[in-house]
Amino acid sequence: MPDRYAVFGNPIAHSKSPRIHALFAAQTGEDISYEAILAPLDGFAAAVHAFAAAGGKGANVTVPFKEEAFRLATTLTPRAQAAGAVNTLSFAEDAILGDNTDGAGLVRDLQANLGFDLAGRRILLLGAGGAARGVMLPLLEAGPASLVIANRTEEKAFRLALEFAGKADILPEGCGFAALAGREFDLVINATSTGLSDIALPLPPRLFAPRALAYEMVYGRETPFMKTAREQGARVADGLGMLVEQAAESFRLWRGVRPATAPVLAALKG
Ligand code: NDP
Repeated sequence: MPDRYAVFGNPIAHSKSPRIHALFAAQTGEDISYEAILAPLDGFAAAVHAFAAAGGKGANVTVPFKEEAFRLATTLTPRAQAAGAVNTLSFAEDAILGDNTDGAGLVRDLQANLGFDLAGRRILLLGAGGAARGVMLPLLEAGPASLVIANRTEEKAFRLALEFAGKADILPEGCGFAALAGREFDLVINATSTGLSDIALPLPPRLFAPRALAYEMVYGRETPFMKTAREQGARVADGLGMLVEQAAESFRLWRGVRPATAPVLAALKG
């Protein structure tokens, strides 16, 4: 019997994670199964406990359960603690280990796949929700020159910046979108959920420095943010690489072997 893993979410039907982990398993020769499980909105903990009791070894967690998974875990890694959310669970005896591989996935996609060195760069993070919080620590640890968080609700950007003050050599700064006028950045990451809609963020002109990278966390569609960035001359990437890299990091935690991501990314794009 293969070791069982799963991803829990709601909705979950369109998740690419089962395909990604099947490709990782085939590549590494690890004997695992990986399924998508639709948890009821009020039944996430029960669904996870039932899966673990039936022999499940670990699980990924996606929208809208990452904060609940954080509360369910009995032990948290420092990066999960900083993120306030968990996307990877490992089950052992009576313990549930919670980790968050989203931020590491983003940083790896930026540095290894896209060849964008974060050290000394001016970073702008758009959004102050769960996805933004999840990538704060790994971004700060990569040694940027500055990190600005801009959010529609300014207060949330201020709070997020304050929360991560003292966690790196630089002091993150929070602001609203209007305060971005006249400033330019080497990397702009869209971590708002506007990528799922056709809403354009009120971004000022000349936001992107020469050779800047625009990174959209959403994948599979050309979003208004990507369009604006292209019009301003930036190089543009979507979040598919982050998805594959966070999955590889979960796989490594569970199996002790890190799969090569390039062939998997190529298969998903093809
Ligand atoms: P949250 O609901 O926690 O946060 C949403 C954020 O978007 C908030 O900052 C919110 O601002 C902002 N926002 C929403 N609507 C608007 C709008 N009309 N104008 C301006 N800002 C807006 O969502 P998450 O942080 O969990 O997810 C954000 C995105 O990241 C999602 O699209 C998700 O799919 C993606 N993601 C991709 C991953 C990957 O592997 N590629 C991994 C994780 C997430 P406000 O505070 O003012 O409400």
